[in-house]
Amino acid sequence: MNAINILNLRKSYDGNTNALNNISLSIPKGEIFGFLGPNGSGKTTTVRILNGILSSTSGHAEILGKPVNEHNLELHRLCGVMTESSFCYENLTAEENLIFFGRMHGMEEKLLKERIDFILKRLELLDIRNKKVQALSTGMRKRVSLAIAIIHNPQILFLDEPTSGLDPENALNVSKLIKELAEENEVTIFLCTHQLKYAENICTLYGFINNGNILGFGTFDELASKKNASLQLKIRGKNISEKFGLIHEDHNLYSKSISGDAEVNAIIHNIIANGGEIYEVVQQKWSLEQLYFMYIKGTADGALL
Ligand code: ADP
Ligand code: MG
Repeated sequence: MNAINILNLRKSYDGNTNALNNISLSIPKGEIFGFLGPNGSGKTTTVRILNGILSSTSGHAEILGKPVNEHNLELHRLCGVMTESSFCYENLTAEENLIFFGRMHGMEEKLLKERIDFILKRLELLDIRNKKVQALSTGMRKRVSLAIAIIHNPQILFLDEPTSGLDPENALNVSKLIKELAEENEVTIFLCTHQLKYAENICTLYGFINNGNILGFGTFDELASKKNASLQLKIRGKNISEKFGLIHEDHNLYSKSISGDAEVNAIIHNIIANGGEIYEVVQQKWSLEQLYFMYIKGTADGALL
């Protein structure tokens, strides 16, 4: 059974334009799914529909085999949600917030207390457990929001722009934490972001969305192979003949698409045997950013904009 199934989901807010244009997605359990697209592409709309906050105009969505909008209470128990503007009580301490939300989920008191101790320690929040949320930094607030989202041990975690507003160090820490939480608890994560560099290191599956259309779906390697985004062998050297399929990119810089290690030896051998000189050789994989722009804009050069 998939964690999430979406079939021909359409949402129009105004009756004229589609914020979601009949999108379909199947996300197996245990994946860290990166839902990537520019602002306004439809990510939050999708999450809201999956969380039962918004109804779709047409189409079908289910979580762990349960249609959304029919089993909302049950789904709220199975899912944790952290949005960009996640709500917590400013006047309560971090711990009081966790007690409140844990009780709201109907957690038994002893279990709740143990879970709070575990989460506060795990998210490095022990020092601020008795501080009111209003006195916390943005990074700490994000952690408290994440703690609230996972207090009831959800099987599926929706994270909508979890790193927005964070400095690079905090954003990296939160991303690392998300990955660890997913691995430790076998949680399926649905992560929406437009910050590609934080998705790159943690996601196992990607969906690219633009203007309400899914433009790409799959693992990094599947997405790369569909666009022939193969490995690039970059060679810095002199007198290198282009007859072996090498492209002369710049002064002393050559490149060639390759499929893997097996080809490299022969290329280097041929260059040397034909009087070429080699100073440096590297294999370059496409970055997620290059791949994303290839799907969204049709050219990897967008990554440089
Ligand atoms: P993302 O999360 O990818 O930035 P959204 O799902 O928030 O995108 O928005 C998708 C589209 O739907 C945008 O064109 C946005 O303006 C529109 N939209 C989002 N929320 C509303 C709303 N409450 N009322 C009308 N239009 C909305
Ligand atoms: Mg959004």
